[in-house]
Amino acid sequence: MQFVKLRISGFKSFVDQTELVIEPGMTGIVGPNGCGKSNLVEALRWVMGETSAKKMRGDDMDDVIFGGTDKRPARNIAEVCLGVDNASRTAPAGFNDFDELDIQRRIERGSGSDYRINGKLVRARDVQLLFADNASGANSPALVSQGRIGTIINSKPTERRVLLEEAAGITGLHSRRHEAELR
Ligand code: ATP
Ligand code: MG
Repeated sequence: MQFVKLRISGFKSFVDQTELVIEPGMTGIVGPNGCGKSNLVEALRWVMGETSAKKMRGDDMDDVIFGGTDKRPARNIAEVCLGVDNASRTAPAGFNDFDELDIQRRIERGSGSDYRINGKLVRARDVQLLFADNASGANSPALVSQGRIGTIINSKPTERRVLLEEAAGITGLHSRRHEAELR
């Protein structure tokens, strides 16, 4: 799964709309402490369906919305849009006519999040499954945050198996089987 662009607005320190073009190959984000490097990675994690405010380094999911500075007032809406290449047509049914998928998540203070794929309102679950199936979900070991390496090293074999399953892209299948069994 190739990411092609990331557009952010009102999210954490990215108050003004910022668009990053993601070229094939390796991308590095460099800059001084506090410039927003981790916030960028969190924007990626968030648009893929992260539900834990704690993992976004906040107490409440509304904390991802730009909270204001001495010079600029707080915002009430944060938006992140991730463009994903779909030339290989691996998107779920209904979205496979598109060369590119635009996955968008928007949060309004006090009202929670909504998700869209190419403008069409979808469930959080649809977005989470899309990335889980492609092994790049919000909890995928492909996204290794500060401190997670120690956790992986110290985890029990069963916990490590879950990480390997995420990496292998079969978490989505387990999750669907679990849903089917509940029905
Ligand atoms: P380091 O090199 O230390 O890891 P970094 O480049 O990863 O730094 P971040 O952690 O991404 O930096 O950014 C931290 C900055 O983001 C802080 O200045 C913090 O005040 C700001 N920030 C975080 N959340 C918000 C928010 N909701 N509203 C406004 N600013 C925010
Ligand atoms: Mg950082």
